[in-house]
Amino acid sequence: MANCAGKYKYLDRIIEGDLDVRQECIECHNYLKYDDSIYNNLVFHASKKGKYADCLMYSGATNFIIISKKALELFKTNRLTGFEEYPITIIDDKENIFDQYYILKITGNALLDYGKMGEQPKFYCKKCGYVEYSGQRPMNYKQTYLIEESWDGSDFFLDDLCTQRVVDIILKNKLKGFIITELINAYNPFNMNYINT
Ligand SMILES: [Zn+2]
Repeated sequence: MANCAGKYKYLDRIIEGDLDVRQECIECHNYLKYDDSIYNNLVFHASKKGKYADCLMYSGATNFIIISKKALELFKTNRLTGFEEYPITIIDDKENIFDQYYILKITGNALLDYGKMGEQPKFYCKKCGYVEYSGQRPMNYKQTYLIEESWDGSDFFLDDLCTQRVVDIILKNKLKGFIITELINAYNPFNMNYINT
């Protein structure tokens, strides 16, 4: 996940392109799966303050993160799996153009076992991951459980979950701008144990 600390730049809007183009799920008929074509030729606007980090926050991000070329190259040379990359363009207020950033679309799969996590959402599509909540939020999830054998073995999977290998590469190479927490606490709304890089 991207670090939202004020010392780093974040992407505050899209200037060109549209991320809100979705495909209907054949199973539940909700619109959640994004059409891959939308990731091409996106232009983002960067916040005024802060430095460029290796992972930049964009609040509209769903199943992707935005990372630097340096981070992407490290992920690729270490043969990490579970993503597709799409180059993006970033423009700031001074019309400076940065093209050394990529959308890392997370393609790895796993399914959450809401039954074991404590509370069942009102509806959960196991095909596309669409979740409908009822009642109060945040839901009282204490620990993360995956449905047995649902994880496809990818290093990046299910929104922004990842393996220890990814974390080791981020920390060893001092990549900036990531928020990391243990998978077991990832869905606990009261979790306070984060590493901010
Ligand atoms: Zn679905």
